[in-house]
Amino acid sequence: LTLSTASSRASSKSSMTMNAAEKTYIMIKPDGVQRGIVGNIISRFEQKGYKLCALKTKQASKELLEQHYKDLVEKPFFPKLRDYMLSGPVVCMVWEGKEAVATGRKMLGATNPLESAPGTIRGDFCIEVGRNICHGSDSVENAEREIGLWFEDGEVLDWTDHSFDWVYE
Ligand code: ADP
Repeated sequence: LTLSTASSRASSKSSMTMNAAEKTYIMIKPDGVQRGIVGNIISRFEQKGYKLCALKTKQASKELLEQHYKDLVEKPFFPKLRDYMLSGPVVCMVWEGKEAVATGRKMLGATNPLESAPGTIRGDFCIEVGRNICHGSDSVENAEREIGLWFEDGEVLDWTDHSFDWVYE
């Protein structure tokens, strides 16, 4: 048994382009917490084969939300979005694996839940854009930025997932 990390094992796997160390920031919004959907969302990412690198509950602040949604602060809906996100705890997570950012977005579904396919989180659990349960990074660059905003140094762990060789060929 070797004690290599997922990252080093990923680079020795067959596909040159495979990056099994890609991380995404997934956040369960206050409605997802209040409605008891946290476990279901975690299960979906676990079952997919992604690796949980960080997880915590947090009460957001106005300042943090203004940074997180920096491209949306001028939008007319931003005050409502901010109040929604401040209305209770959120669950912050980092999931790692091949194409975790793009696949995470697919697993969440479209921003407007009525346009989300059944089988996605938003498609299965919600109706309105202002109560759409979850957030997922939309690019690798934004994932790094968001992980840095929501987590402190040392909270995001690199650990050996023993199912790795059963998930990746
Ligand atoms: P996503 O969360 O799918 O990446 P955006 O980054 O465009 O979508 O928007 C961030 C969040 O702002 C959405 O998830 C949703 O909660 C809220 N939002 C977006 N557009 C609207 C809107 N037109 N009215 C109300 N809330 C909105």
